[in-house]
Amino acid sequence: MGCARVVDATGQVLSPCDEEKALRLVAEGRATLLSEQPLTIQLHRTISLPERSEEKDPLAGQRLLLHICCAPCATYTVGRFREAGVEVTGHWFNPNIHPFREHELRREALAGYASTIALPMIWEPGYEMPEFLWQVVGRECFRQRCALCYRLRLERTAIVAAREGFTLFSTTLLISPYQDLDAIVRIGEELAQRHGVAFWGENLRRGYAEHHRLAREAGLYRQHYCGCIYSEWEALDRQATTHRRGAADETADTSRSEEGV
Ligand code: SF4
Repeated sequence: MGCARVVDATGQVLSPCDEEKALRLVAEGRATLLSEQPLTIQLHRTISLPERSEEKDPLAGQRLLLHICCAPCATYTVGRFREAGVEVTGHWFNPNIHPFREHELRREALAGYASTIALPMIWEPGYEMPEFLWQVVGRECFRQRCALCYRLRLERTAIVAAREGFTLFSTTLLISPYQDLDAIVRIGEELAQRHGVAFWGENLRRGYAEHHRLAREAGLYRQHYCGCIYSEWEALDRQATTHRRGAADETADTSRSEEGV
């Protein structure tokens, strides 16, 4: 299900909503269908939006190294930062992605997309899959392994950002409601202290529906699982013992920290 464009009674453009909700509002007589392709609806009431602040955006003029997990997640995210006046460079380091063929598919999709939007990229060479597995073996339940996965990837981005003189680093993982936002922010801020470059941990989930639309529009390759071998298993087998439904209890029971100490 994609997302629909929405305007209010005065024609003011609002945040998009998912198509199912848009069609329900039309069926309930609370909105009028303006167009089917792209799906656009007009609400029957006027929405007052908060006044835009005149204060300078703290992002303006920053040099950001953005860890990118895949091309679809880069769509909205790069646009959001560029609109704020940020000079964005992408960084590819995703040894979690399994198998190698899938890693290459996602990398190539991003390379193609980056060239269409003139996004400079820093590519980590090779495929450090053993390093990822070393980190997570024995800690496979999703909260533990994901925190380790975030740390592995973000630490490389922080190191490169510090070395290359960027003023900020961040990650496209912040757009996904399936990722643990609190863990990403906590780890990002800890790495910022360690490597001396600031982390930008904005909740970008408001762009999630829009990123699907942009990815579809750009014809990008879209995967069906997060990336690692465990997430592929969980996507295909609801009984997978690493699955997030069972993981919460397992995490609460364990005395190990995410580093397994
Ligand atoms: S589910 Fe995603 S974030 Fe979690 S460990 Fe696997 S690839 Fe990393």
